[in-house]
Amino acid sequence: TLAWKADMLKSLGGLVLTDDDSVEKLSKDYYWYSPVLDKRLKEKKADVIIAPKTEEDVAAALALAYRLRIPVTARGAGTGNYGQAIPLEGGIVLDLSGLDRIVEFGAGCVRAQSGVRLGVLDKTAREQGQELRIYPSTYVKATVGGFVSGGSGGIGSVTWGNLWDGNVLEAVVYTLEEKPRRLVIKGDELYDYIHNYGTTGIMTEVTVPLAPRNEWTQCVFQFASFEDAVRYGEALARDGAVTKRLISPMEWPLPSFFKPLAKSLAPAQAAVLTEIAEHAVDLAAKLAEAYGGKLGHVIAASQYRKTIGVSDFTWNHTTLWAIKSDPSWTYLQAGFAPDRYLEQLRAIKSAYGDEVLFHFEWVLSGGALVPTALPVVRFSTEERLYEIIAFFKSVGVAIFDPHTWMLEDGGRGSVGRMRSRKLANDPLGLLNPGKL
Ligand code: FAD
Repeated sequence: TLAWKADMLKSLGGLVLTDDDSVEKLSKDYYWYSPVLDKRLKEKKADVIIAPKTEEDVAAALALAYRLRIPVTARGAGTGNYGQAIPLEGGIVLDLSGLDRIVEFGAGCVRAQSGVRLGVLDKTAREQGQELRIYPSTYVKATVGGFVSGGSGGIGSVTWGNLWDGNVLEAVVYTLEEKPRRLVIKGDELYDYIHNYGTTGIMTEVTVPLAPRNEWTQCVFQFASFEDAVRYGEALARDGAVTKRLISPMEWPLPSFFKPLAKSLAPAQAAVLTEIAEHAVDLAAKLAEAYGGKLGHVIAASQYRKTIGVSDFTWNHTTLWAIKSDPSWTYLQAGFAPDRYLEQLRAIKSAYGDEVLFHFEWVLSGGALVPTALPVVRFSTEERLYEIIAFFKSVGVAIFDPHTWMLEDGGRGSVGRMRSRKLANDPLGLLNPGKL
């Protein structure tokens, strides 16, 4: 190791970080979200960090890794929560956050280097009368390259779908070979790279589509029962007259965990957290009444992004607030059947009661509206967790297991295609080894 570190320092000089603090910090992501991963990944770390500033730096680092036969694990902001960015076999963590230039805006799209933070990208797009179509609840920190390579969907997905639904237009990818190739990927081939954990190439630029800017009012609707809240969520999602970005029904007591928001909510009620176009709030409120609910807390469109927003309590942020309130909570990722989700929900609740607390995120996936869920689960043992997973599956609920770092077992992306792409792009198997 000492010999190749010296070689690396000689070739890449100022781009290489070897101090313990940087290596420790940049070797970790949010893997500790899962008590299963926490136990297994705690000790893993890189030997060195390489922090490129340009595409040429990336190519030079990859050529060197090939020559020295050293693994390379890409990193954006390290907000992934399945240990995606953790270097299982040490070697190099390639910190891409320095590639942070927005290259160009077009009408309806933006091309950016992979390390640009999604919050910056959305803010800049909004200044030009456009906005991101989809982004994760970690948008303030997360990078566009990290989202495309390790995420799935989030705010906006109720209208625009997930990453696989036309929400990535083009990517510039480098291979890990003797002479790294610069590939410009479009169309169908993008499936070899979306949610690949950086196993089939290193993305240096991404082009994503934009939507026209909307003025978003953040509304919380409250309901006596969670089932009414979920049914309202579906009706709102289906209502073409209501422009929306987020529909997240939450079972009580989840809203009680949201400390900065809880005091503005009615106690002991289910809540539907939404982002709705300002002009459609009255329509959405009227619809809520039809489901026995009413409009509660509102953050006016003029305050958008000026205060803590409702999306800071949705998607996987719900789990974060639960863990803050009690560290024994963890979570699952589940896909319910659109035609019998209430039946499935009842079966799980009657088997597990408050050991499993639900929130749904309504998403348009492959053109169909689906109730996805990130249930918060009380963790006792790994056996019990997998017993609960088995029960979900037994009632027909799909599980995208967040307690594994293996792409195959997490259940997203085109893993079969990625395997053959990897053979071509990474013949020595050095890109994020152990994940595919
Ligand atoms: P990282 O964590 O740094 O990387 C993610 C993966 O991509 C890693 O495998 C890494 O090796 C690889 N990678 C990173 N950059 C590149 C690159 N340029 N080229 C090749 N490979 C690369 N995800 C969602 O999809 N939706 C959500 O709503 C959501 N909510 C979250 C809430 C919380 C509280 C947390 C902790 C996580 C959440 N996530 C969510 C997961 C994660 O935050 C997002 O997917 C985020 O977009 C990841 O971006 P990042 O820059 O942090 O990527």
